[in-house]
Amino acid sequence: MSETTGPAGQRGSVRLRSVSKTYGSAEAAVYALRDVDLDIEPGELVVVLGPSGSGKTTLLNLIGGIEAADAGQLTVAGEELTERNPAALTGFRRAHIGFVFQYFNLVPTLTAQENIEVIAELTGRGARGRAAELLADVGLAERADHFPAQLSGGQQQRVAVARALITDPDLLLADEPTGALDTATGRRILELLQRSNREGRTVLMVTHNAVIAAIAHRVVRMRDGGVESVERQTEPADVASVAW
Ligand code: ADP
Ligand code: MG
Repeated sequence: MSETTGPAGQRGSVRLRSVSKTYGSAEAAVYALRDVDLDIEPGELVVVLGPSGSGKTTLLNLIGGIEAADAGQLTVAGEELTERNPAALTGFRRAHIGFVFQYFNLVPTLTAQENIEVIAELTGRGARGRAAELLADVGLAERADHFPAQLSGGQQQRVAVARALITDPDLLLADEPTGALDTATGRRILELLQRSNREGRTVLMVTHNAVIAAIAHRVVRMRDGGVESVERQTEPADVASVAW
């Protein structure tokens, strides 16, 4: 976890109060999020469930500083995000957040290792040499020089997880990270996310697959741009023991 940024004890924490986000102009405004309150403790693995269009991606994008909220208070890793402009949000994101997307989003003209190194360079965080180590951690040491098109979907997503970890983020955000993968391959990705959480990192994952919620400390259910329920689970399951 980051030792240099964010007040101690708040690394990886998330606090939303009456957070709203609309898209479109005043007359035709669509509420993507409406008056959302949410607390996530450092070190939790949180799974977000909800139907398509319920605001899950918007929630992740606001917490990760990809977009700004219109109203309410948003504090992530001890930093107040509410009034920040796009440049300040980018600085926040590079210091605190790792993102994993449904469709991997690797740069096609860079090798697996270069896809990770470029983030170390761009953010000034994470030694370039660590890219090879992270690739080995996700079981892809021998694929370092392969381009994304030469890798399976599951392998590309493992590169994406390694890329998200190169900056040593406080908070790992994953938006349907297994949505484009078959079950066995998806399980491998979930194992990496759970391992990262067990190493102390806060993980917030959106999924369509309610069975995956078994691995969470807390399950957030969304509906129509709001949080419908938050359920604590005292004994989250090992990915390996979840049948689906
Ligand atoms: P989910 O991830 O749960 O499917 P989203 O957060 O993507 O939901 O979307 C929530 C709502 O906001 C939906 O009604 C969606 O159509 C709308 N929305 C999301 N992004 C945009 C955008 N860039 N422009 C306009 N409407 C958007
Ligand atoms: Mg979505």
